[in-house]
Amino acid sequence: MLRMLQIIKMLRIYRMPRFKVSTYPFTDYFKGFDKVEAVRRIFGEKTEEVFRNLKVEFTWIGYMWISDIDGHLIVNSRYLNNGDILDIYLDVIHELVHLKQFMEGKELFEGRFSYVERPTEIEAYRHAVEEARKLGLSDERICAYLMTEWMSDDDLKRLAKTLNVVCEQVKDKAPQ
Ligand SMILES: [Zn+2]
Repeated sequence: MLRMLQIIKMLRIYRMPRFKVSTYPFTDYFKGFDKVEAVRRIFGEKTEEVFRNLKVEFTWIGYMWISDIDGHLIVNSRYLNNGDILDIYLDVIHELVHLKQFMEGKELFEGRFSYVERPTEIEAYRHAVEEARKLGLSDERICAYLMTEWMSDDDLKRLAKTLNVVCEQVKDKAPQ
Protein backbone atom coordinates (compact mmCIF):
# COMPACT_ATOMS: atom_id res chain seq x y z
CA MET A 1 0.00 0.00 0.00
CA LEU A 2 2.74 2.41 0.97
CA ARG A 3 4.62 1.46 -2.18
CA MET A 4 1.52 2.18 -4.20
CA LEU A 5 1.22 5.63 -2.65
CA GLN A 6 4.85 6.26 -3.43
CA ILE A 7 4.28 5.30 -7.02
CA ILE A 8 1.23 7.55 -7.26
CA LYS A 9 3.27 10.42 -5.90
CA MET A 10 5.86 9.68 -8.56
CA LEU A 11 3.19 9.73 -11.21
CA ARG A 12 2.10 13.14 -10.07
CA ILE A 13 5.61 14.37 -10.63
CA TYR A 14 5.51 13.02 -14.16
CA ARG A 15 2.13 14.54 -14.83
CA MET A 16 3.18 18.07 -14.03
CA PRO A 17 5.18 18.80 -17.19
CA ARG A 18 2.05 18.24 -19.23
CA PHE A 19 0.78 21.59 -18.03
CA LYS A 20 3.98 23.35 -18.81
CA VAL A 21 4.45 23.81 -22.52
CA SER A 22 7.93 24.35 -23.89
CA THR A 23 8.00 26.12 -27.22
CA TYR A 24 10.89 26.97 -29.52
CA PRO A 25 11.26 29.35 -32.43
CA PHE A 26 9.80 27.70 -35.54
CA THR A 27 12.76 28.89 -37.60
CA ASP A 28 15.19 26.93 -35.39
CA TYR A 29 13.75 23.72 -36.83
CA PHE A 30 12.18 24.72 -40.14
CA LYS A 31 14.52 26.78 -42.25
CA GLY A 32 13.81 28.62 -45.45
CA PHE A 33 10.02 28.40 -45.37
CA ASP A 34 9.74 32.19 -45.52
CA LYS A 35 11.31 31.99 -49.00
CA VAL A 36 8.89 29.38 -50.32
CA GLU A 37 6.47 30.84 -52.86
CA ALA A 38 3.56 28.70 -51.62
CA VAL A 39 4.12 30.10 -48.13
CA ARG A 40 4.36 33.68 -49.32
CA ARG A 41 1.07 33.11 -51.12
CA ILE A 42 -0.50 32.25 -47.75
CA PHE A 43 0.80 35.19 -45.70
CA GLY A 44 1.77 37.79 -48.31
CA GLU A 45 3.67 40.70 -46.85
CA LYS A 46 3.06 39.40 -43.34
CA THR A 47 5.34 36.41 -44.02
CA GLU A 48 8.43 37.72 -42.18
CA GLU A 49 6.40 38.86 -39.19
CA VAL A 50 4.60 35.51 -38.99
CA PHE A 51 7.86 33.55 -38.95
CA ARG A 52 9.45 35.91 -36.44
CA ASN A 53 6.71 35.08 -33.98
CA LEU A 54 5.83 31.47 -34.79
CA LYS A 55 6.68 28.91 -32.09
CA VAL A 56 6.86 25.15 -32.26
CA GLU A 57 6.09 22.66 -29.51
CA PHE A 58 7.11 19.00 -29.63
CA THR A 59 4.88 16.15 -28.63
CA TRP A 60 4.69 12.35 -28.90
CA ILE A 61 1.32 11.95 -30.55
CA GLY A 62 -0.25 12.48 -33.96
CA TYR A 63 1.58 14.28 -36.77
CA MET A 64 1.28 18.04 -36.53
CA TRP A 65 -1.39 20.61 -35.89
CA ILE A 66 -1.97 24.23 -34.93
CA SER A 67 -2.90 25.11 -31.35
CA ASP A 68 -6.38 26.61 -31.31
CA ILE A 69 -5.35 28.62 -28.23
CA ASP A 70 -2.45 30.70 -29.55
CA GLY A 71 -1.75 29.38 -33.05
CA HIS A 72 1.64 27.77 -32.39
CA LEU A 73 2.63 24.65 -34.29
CA ILE A 74 2.63 21.33 -32.45
CA VAL A 75 4.74 18.57 -34.00
CA ASN A 76 5.30 14.94 -33.11
CA SER A 77 9.08 14.79 -32.83
CA ARG A 78 9.11 11.15 -33.93
CA TYR A 79 7.28 12.13 -37.11
CA LEU A 80 9.67 15.00 -37.67
CA ASN A 81 12.67 12.69 -37.28
CA ASN A 82 11.41 9.62 -39.11
CA GLY A 83 8.61 10.74 -41.41
CA ASP A 84 8.92 11.16 -45.17
CA ILE A 85 10.46 14.58 -45.77
CA LEU A 86 8.03 15.38 -48.58
CA ASP A 87 5.04 14.50 -46.39
CA ILE A 88 6.44 16.72 -43.64
CA TYR A 89 6.99 19.58 -46.06
CA LEU A 90 3.41 19.35 -47.37
CA ASP A 91 2.08 19.06 -43.83
CA VAL A 92 3.85 22.26 -42.86
CA ILE A 93 2.24 24.04 -45.82
CA HIS A 94 -1.13 22.61 -44.74
CA GLU A 95 -0.65 23.73 -41.14
CA LEU A 96 0.52 27.20 -42.15
CA VAL A 97 -2.82 27.62 -43.93
CA HIS A 98 -4.49 26.71 -40.63
CA LEU A 99 -2.31 29.30 -38.91
CA LYS A 100 -3.53 31.94 -41.36
CA GLN A 101 -7.11 30.83 -40.67
CA PHE A 102 -6.45 31.08 -36.93
CA MET A 103 -5.07 34.60 -37.40
CA GLU A 104 -8.28 35.48 -39.24
CA GLY A 105 -10.27 34.29 -36.23
CA LYS A 106 -11.64 31.18 -37.90
CA GLU A 107 -12.59 28.19 -35.82
CA LEU A 108 -10.13 25.40 -36.69
CA PHE A 109 -11.83 22.40 -35.13
CA GLU A 110 -15.39 23.17 -35.99
CA GLY A 111 -17.57 20.12 -35.38
CA ARG A 112 -20.35 21.13 -37.76
CA PHE A 113 -18.57 19.42 -40.66
CA SER A 114 -16.88 16.08 -41.00
CA TYR A 115 -13.11 16.32 -41.38
CA VAL A 116 -13.06 15.88 -45.16
CA GLU A 117 -15.86 18.42 -45.67
CA ARG A 118 -14.64 21.12 -43.31
CA PRO A 119 -13.92 24.26 -45.37
CA THR A 120 -10.80 25.04 -43.32
CA GLU A 121 -9.40 21.55 -44.06
CA ILE A 122 -10.21 21.73 -47.76
CA GLU A 123 -8.47 25.08 -48.06
CA ALA A 124 -5.38 23.71 -46.27
CA TYR A 125 -5.33 20.58 -48.47
CA ARG A 126 -5.74 22.67 -51.62
CA HIS A 127 -2.54 24.58 -50.84
CA ALA A 128 -0.65 21.37 -50.05
CA VAL A 129 -1.86 19.59 -53.19
CA GLU A 130 -1.09 22.60 -55.37
CA GLU A 131 2.45 22.63 -54.00
CA ALA A 132 2.73 18.85 -54.50
CA ARG A 133 1.78 19.27 -58.16
CA LYS A 134 4.33 22.05 -58.56
CA LEU A 135 6.95 19.66 -57.24
CA GLY A 136 5.87 17.23 -59.94
CA LEU A 137 4.32 14.58 -57.70
CA SER A 138 2.05 12.08 -59.41
CA ASP A 139 -1.59 11.64 -58.44
CA GLU A 140 -0.60 8.29 -56.98
CA ARG A 141 1.97 9.91 -54.71
CA ILE A 142 -0.40 12.74 -53.75
CA CYS A 143 -3.07 10.16 -52.94
CA ALA A 144 -0.56 8.32 -50.75
CA TYR A 145 0.10 11.62 -49.01
CA LEU A 146 -3.60 12.16 -48.36
CA MET A 147 -4.00 8.67 -46.91
CA THR A 148 -3.95 8.52 -43.13
CA GLU A 149 -4.79 5.62 -40.87
CA TRP A 150 -7.70 7.46 -39.30
CA MET A 151 -9.40 8.31 -42.61
CA SER A 152 -11.82 5.76 -44.06
CA ASP A 153 -11.61 4.78 -47.73
CA ASP A 154 -14.86 6.64 -48.36
CA ASP A 155 -13.57 9.81 -46.73
CA LEU A 156 -10.32 9.59 -48.66
CA LYS A 157 -12.23 9.17 -51.91
CA ARG A 158 -14.40 12.16 -51.10
CA LEU A 159 -11.43 14.32 -50.21
CA ALA A 160 -9.48 13.25 -53.31
CA LYS A 161 -12.49 14.05 -55.49
CA THR A 162 -12.82 17.52 -53.95
CA LEU A 163 -9.13 18.13 -54.63
CA ASN A 164 -9.20 16.64 -58.15
CA VAL A 165 -6.67 13.96 -57.20
CA VAL A 166 -7.05 10.60 -58.89
CA CYS A 167 -6.82 8.04 -56.12
CA GLU A 168 -6.55 4.69 -57.86
CA GLN A 169 -5.14 3.04 -54.76
CA VAL A 170 -8.51 3.23 -53.06
CA LYS A 171 -10.54 0.24 -54.03
CA ASP A 172 -14.22 0.68 -54.67
CA LYS A 173 -16.10 -1.35 -52.12
CA ALA A 174 -18.10 -4.24 -53.55
CA PRO A 175 -21.82 -3.54 -53.27
CA GLN A 176 -23.26 -5.24 -50.21
ZN1 LIG B 1 -5.80 20.29 -41.35
